[in-house]
Amino acid sequence: MKDCHVHTNISHDGISSISDYLKISNNKGIDEITFTEHYDIYDGINTDLKTLDIDYYLKEYMKYKKSSPIKINFGLEIGLQPDKFYKTNDMVIRYPFDYIIGSSHITCKKDISSDKSFFDGYTRHDAYMRYFEEVLENIKTYDIEFDVYGHLDYIVRYGEYKEKEIDYDEFKIVLDEILLNLIKKNKGLEVNTSGYRYGLGSPHPNTYIIKRYKELGGKIITIGSDAHKTNDLGSNFNEAIDILEKVGYDEVAFYHKRKPEFIKIKEFRRQWK
Ligand SMILES: [Zn+2]
Ligand SMILES: [Zn+2]
Repeated sequence: MKDCHVHTNISHDGISSISDYLKISNNKGIDEITFTEHYDIYDGINTDLKTLDIDYYLKEYMKYKKSSPIKINFGLEIGLQPDKFYKTNDMVIRYPFDYIIGSSHITCKKDISSDKSFFDGYTRHDAYMRYFEEVLENIKTYDIEFDVYGHLDYIVRYGEYKEKEIDYDEFKIVLDEILLNLIKKNKGLEVNTSGYRYGLGSPHPNTYIIKRYKELGGKIITIGSDAHKTNDLGSNFNEAIDILEKVGYDEVAFYHKRKPEFIKIKEFRRQWK
């Protein structure tokens, strides 16, 4: 089994170390991990967090690369922001990444996971629209800086609304535009199983969005746990695979040197309890 969305304690919110993951990989039947530390640019944002030092990350990664008992890859999760293009591009072209997830964390200059003022004064519909409009702007702005869009409906984790799930029809116009732009740019859609750990009962994005990506011609799906500790590795992969098979996918992509390789979906099934 392979997991391509994994944070170590090099990320500000990661708990387990690279060596912790490598130690448990054998027991868990994991034969490949792509580390995807957080890279967010905080200029002008209300936070004490610091942008990832990629030289340090690469140095740590290289310490384990040769001796690792399983294959490991050098990835990144970039928190895309439309006005950070030049800095992001300049960083990406200088490092030998295998895989880059583009995500929305800071949206409209607010870190939506911690700054609830993002939602102040907006209805649920309007807050979700602000988020999706910025996702679309990111996809139009960025190109070589990402391979797949991560946890596309991440916003549902943080709005304090009773009804969390995205109803596709309610956001059809903007979501279709998002998915069509991803497909046009040959970008993938990440199925991120952390949604289950957040009690949402589905991955990010939900089944309706995955189904629509397929209907519109989307071919590149990746599966990642978004692990922040060893226990999260490969979590809920089987549930996500059930959804993907139902929607009609029998292969998922795994990236090396920024190129997707297609692998039979059953190889991503988790074999342990
Ligand atoms: Zn993320
Ligand atoms: Zn992540």
